[in-house]
Amino acid sequence: MEEILKVEQIAQTYQAENGELTALENISFSVKKGEFVSIVGPSGCGKSTLLSIVAGMIRPTYGRVLLQDEPIEGISPHIGYMLQRDNLLEWRSIYQNVLLGLEIQKKLTEENKEYAASLLKAYDLWDFRDKYPSQLSGGMRQRTALIRTLAVRPDVLLLDEAFSALDYQTRLAVTDDVYRILKREQKTTLMVTHDISESISMSDRILVLSRRPAHISRVLEIQFDKPDFTPLQRREQHQFQEYFNIIWKELDVHV
Ligand code: ADP
Ligand code: MG
Repeated sequence: MEEILKVEQIAQTYQAENGELTALENISFSVKKGEFVSIVGPSGCGKSTLLSIVAGMIRPTYGRVLLQDEPIEGISPHIGYMLQRDNLLEWRSIYQNVLLGLEIQKKLTEENKEYAASLLKAYDLWDFRDKYPSQLSGGMRQRTALIRTLAVRPDVLLLDEAFSALDYQTRLAVTDDVYRILKREQKTTLMVTHDISESISMSDRILVLSRRPAHISRVLEIQFDKPDFTPLQRREQHQFQEYFNIIWKELDVHV
């Protein structure tokens, strides 16, 4: 399969108050079209930094990122970015929120509006289109944020701890939801999380980052008996615990 995203020898050093702080050190990997790759690592190791570099929001100290063989320099309309907070605008209706990305990118055509509407319909939000974010559950808000990101048809979707603000039960349901949508829309996804279980439940491949300065300490291909298991079904498989143990040991978590 085609490698759509290539991260080449990324390093990032910040100028901190007490000198330099190296967050990332020689990070290289690529993501194939349609693949779901996640990056796990301890808090503060540089996961968000890495994703901000891929999103073109931070220029790395060293290395480069290629999207469809073109270097990323600055924020790209081909990359969708979803964060922990859903960032919905409370004074806009659900439908107006979903159109926001298209508006910002000046792509508010009839065709794109229809596509946004079709996403709302397909994912059970159409009946809520005239409601406001405060009238929706946490799960529905997150689904709205996802549809807003998908409405601009990004080639690659980036998720940064996108579910960690939700309570545990909602989080499991939303994970299932988001996974189903991304698979159906055949999206290429790069997710960072500190949650090992979340990464195993969704990914085709997991990159484990070391503590700072972060480098990739292990790459794990994730395979279950059936490729179409949902995240919840994956959690019930015996392989799930095996993958968990491997990553846990690799992270060398001290409690
Ligand atoms: P993670 O997402 O894995 O928790 P981050 O990428 O947010 O980690 O941060 C990695 C390290 O870089 C942390 O020690 C953080 O304090 C530091 N850092 C992040 N952004 C900046 C910045 N703009 N200036 C200086 N240091 C930063
Ligand atoms: Mg982070």
